[in-house]
Amino acid sequence: MMPSSLYIHIPFCASKCYYCDFNSYVSTGEVMDRYLDALDIEMGILSREMNWEPLQTVFFGGGTPTMFDTRQSERMMNILHRHFRLAEEAEISVEANPGTVNAEKLQVLREGGVNRLSFGVQSFHDAILKKLGRLHDSLTVYHSYEKARQAGFSSINLDLMFGLPGQTVEIFSDSLRRMTELAPEHISAYSLKVEEGTPFAVWQERGKLHLPPEEDDLAMYNLLMETLEAHGYGMYEISNFAKNGHECRHNKVYWRNEPYLAAGAGAHGYVNHVRYVVESSVPAYIEGCQAGKRPVVEQEAIPEAIRREDTMILGLRMLEGVRFARFQERHGIEMRDLFGDITSRLEQRGLLVRDEVGVRLSRQALPIANEVFSAFLIS
Ligand code: SF4
Repeated sequence: MMPSSLYIHIPFCASKCYYCDFNSYVSTGEVMDRYLDALDIEMGILSREMNWEPLQTVFFGGGTPTMFDTRQSERMMNILHRHFRLAEEAEISVEANPGTVNAEKLQVLREGGVNRLSFGVQSFHDAILKKLGRLHDSLTVYHSYEKARQAGFSSINLDLMFGLPGQTVEIFSDSLRRMTELAPEHISAYSLKVEEGTPFAVWQERGKLHLPPEEDDLAMYNLLMETLEAHGYGMYEISNFAKNGHECRHNKVYWRNEPYLAAGAGAHGYVNHVRYVVESSVPAYIEGCQAGKRPVVEQEAIPEAIRREDTMILGLRMLEGVRFARFQERHGIEMRDLFGDITSRLEQRGLLVRDEVGVRLSRQALPIANEVFSAFLIS
């Protein structure tokens, strides 16, 4: 299977959020220019060295890709189009943060073919945004969202978080209400996970991070599902909701365990059953590209046994689940011959639903999805 998706990592942010372990740095415009020089080289090599089909999906993630100014944003789009051919109706997404877009920049992105914007809103409660170390406030969300609409973006995702310090179910409910009033086409909502090496992890260890109790976290997730369903959003993945026709095609490639190319510092790709990781340090990445090669620091061939498990674990994240026919076609073996015992056990516990086309998570399994996924780790 040849890749027809490309992820491009832009590792710059205006400041570092206290919970963030993504590969992102606060940097200068001059470094960003040199990063784009390097990306130009890497993308050129990538497009020549790899076999790929006209791209169906492209995702500029970060970091904050809209940290680039208008000229740099135009360059970012030119680099993509110079090295890669895109399929008609390709989905091109760009992650943005409230307060980092203006009319000119958005125009340049639109002209470059970007048709999907994703804003990291996280909360509409200013005190909580401060606790997260976010730079924007709720008013900025409204301004940036309005600018995106004025620029003609008709597919917008807003990210929301729950289980945050100082957050009650009522506060989360208010953020949800304000988000649905804005009526974006797509909403992604994640529970906070305290990651090692972040200020939050340090504060947690010192007993200074006060998170809501587990039952509130669960109540927020249930409220999320009920509210978005009532507002016409289809839940298509355990954390993702979309209006009709606005599911993120790029992310579905990951969940279907299909191949994708990746470029940029710290990016992860998956091609020919090999997962690879690009150098994450920006200076080392730039140096590697200047030397005329892709600065790939890790490559791991994924054995067939692990690929089968991945197909189950990633596929069950989607509410459509894993289809028997697709599994057979991908792996040359029936799902029931490999995982029949496991799926039966989970079905008996009410955690999986099986019908004539495949298996999927039951409603009651959604809050404990990780427990279901771990049952498929057999190799
Ligand atoms: S804006 Fe996003 S990528 Fe940047 S520091 Fe905050 S969470 Fe991390």
